[in-house]
Formats: sequence, structure tokens, C-alpha cells
Amino acid sequence: MAFPVTRLRRLRRTAELRNMVCETRLTPDAFVYPMFVCPGEGVRKEVRSMPNVFNLSVDKAVKEAREVHALGVPSIILFGLPEKKDEVATGAWAEDGIVQQATRAIKREVPGLVVMGDVCLCEYMSHGHCGIVKGIPLAKSLGAAVIDTLRSAKTIAVRDAAEKESAIEKVASQVAEYAKRMEFEIVNDASLELLAKTSVSLAKAGIDIIAPSDMMDGRVAAIRRALDEAGFINTPILSYAAKFASGFYGPFREAADSAPQFGDRRSYQMDGANIREAMREIEADIEEGADMIMVKPAMPYLDVIAAARERFDLPLAAYQVSGEYAMIEAAARNGWIERERVMMESLLSIRRAGASIILTYYAKDAAKLLG
Ligand SMILES: [Zn+2]
Repeated sequence: MAFPVTRLRRLRRTAELRNMVCETRLTPDAFVYPMFVCPGEGVRKEVRSMPNVFNLSVDKAVKEAREVHALGVPSIILFGLPEKKDEVATGAWAEDGIVQQATRAIKREVPGLVVMGDVCLCEYMSHGHCGIVKGIPLAKSLGAAVIDTLRSAKTIAVRDAAEKESAIEKVASQVAEYAKRMEFEIVNDASLELLAKTSVSLAKAGIDIIAPSDMMDGRVAAIRRALDEAGFINTPILSYAAKFASGFYGPFREAADSAPQFGDRRSYQMDGANIREAMREIEADIEEGADMIMVKPAMPYLDVIAAARERFDLPLAAYQVSGEYAMIEAAARNGWIERERVMMESLLSIRRAGASIILTYYAKDAAKLLG
């Protein structure tokens, strides 16, 4: 039946009718609230590019966790800012690591809250990459680099000590730039061991769900094996199965102080152009034993969420990432959009695309509106 018999506006006439035919509903049960834990006491430091998101010391994180739980949000995911970073990500797997400490405190004070642990190495590595980095020897020695740099430099006339100093600095920085261009590799298999070790350490601290976000091949299998061997057969894995190399992570890197010091993450995170490859990534993680899967970011990849929902039967999560949050906040602060309306619309779109679990910095605010 076509118009005029069919009039789709009939069911949009009143709020009651619209509510009756509503296809997608948001509830706080779907939300996971990300939190950034840092050393110290009484610390509640706002992330510059993420208004209302804070780096929290353990005591403050407990307070925040209590508030989250009271609002009806069932789960949080923890990220850590360690005291020190090194080349083997000690802070990720140490028994007294910052996330381990926070987990023990939160599970003691707010036992009903489901605590997820993000498993990655970047926040704990001095170089900021998600795996172990191996330098590939330069074709030329550093000495040759210096000679090259000097040869290509124009003759610099110096008149005094200060000018000489600045000329030396300039040449040195050129050599340093050259050294930075050194090729490197994020080593896959050796990284698995650290990821597995981190997962076991988090499970020991009381983490309820292990969530690996590193994108190394084979990590889910390695983590599952290690958890089982350590007796954590009932600890589920939520894998960041399709995680794209995205510009939308910018503000997070400030929040978690995890920007890579050289290169980028395109050799392990996915190319934003590839949806078929995303399906293969998800399939691989399921075969390796993932209990739940995730697509990240959410809004620029709603089609990937929808395709994953269509194809796989596991619980599906999506991460509304820092850049998605920051864009809405920035536009709202300028008075260009209605904050609450756009916040809810963005969450609804993720839900409609097929994600049943949404990791979002809006978890608390959205729960307040829905409550
Ligand atoms: Zn990482």
C-alpha cells in the first residue's frame, strides 16, 4: 500500500506513539566507563582535551567507581599511568602495578562493579609502542650519518662562542633526526609473552574481564593459555578484535600518556579502509578463544559494527573513543550543537549499528539522563 493509504507520520504524531514503536533503546546496562589511574594520593587531574575526564589516583578512582556503580553503570575499564616506563613494560605486569593496585582497592570497596582491565604495553613502554621494539641495524653507522649530515650542511660562519654552540646544536639535532629515521620493528611473538604475563597479573589482582587492545597476532590464544595455566579458567576475554589505526585516539594519548615516541601504529592496528580484513581479525580472535569482541573506534566504523553483528554471535562491544567524545564536547562548548542531544544520538547510533556493549566517556552522564 502506498500513499495516501500509508502515512508513516501517523506513528510519529505523539511522544507516546513514538516511544511505542521505538526500535532501539539505550540502557545504562550497556555502558562501560573508562578510567585512567595514576600514582599518588588525592590526584584528580583533568585531561586537557577531554573535559570531565580525569587522571585519578587510587583513592579517587575508588570514589569514582562508587559513583559509577551508583548510577547503574555496571562496568568500568581501567588504564594505567605508571610511575616509570621502560623497555619491557614492567608497570603493566608488576604485582604492585598501578592498575593492579586500583583493581584490588575497587574490588574491595565496590565489589558489585565489573572491572575490565585493558591489556596493552604502550602506556608502560618508554617508546610508547604496543609491543616490544627491535631496531633494525642502520645501513650506515651513526658515524657515517654524522659525516653525511656535515657534508650536506652549508658552511656556517661562526663569530663567537654562542654562535658556535648553536651551530653544533643544529648539526646534532640533524644527526638525531637521522637516527630517529632508523628502521624498527614491533616484534610480534616476543610481545605475546608480556601480554600474557600482564593478563595473569591483572586476573590475580581481581580483574573480572581481560581486554587486550594491542593488536598483536595470536595474543588471544597466548592470553587464554596463560590464564588457564594460572587457574583463571573463568576469566573472560573481551578482545579489541578490530582496532583501527585512527586519528580519533589523539586525546586518549594525552590521557594515558601513551603516544609512540617514533613511527606510528599502522604496522599492527588496522587500516581504516578495510572491512573484510576486520572480519578476518574478528574471526581469528574468536578461534583463539575470545568470549566477546570489540570494534574501535565506533562512530567512523559503524558499518564494521553492523557487519560484525550480522556475521558473529558473540557479545559485541564498541568503543566510543576519546576523539569522538572531544569533538562533541568542543562543539557543545562553542554552542554549535546541543550536548546532551548529540551525546545520546551518538550512543544510540552505536547501539543501532549492533553493539550491545558501549565503552564510553559518557557512561555516567548518559546513565543520569536515562535513570
Ligand atoms: Zn597500546
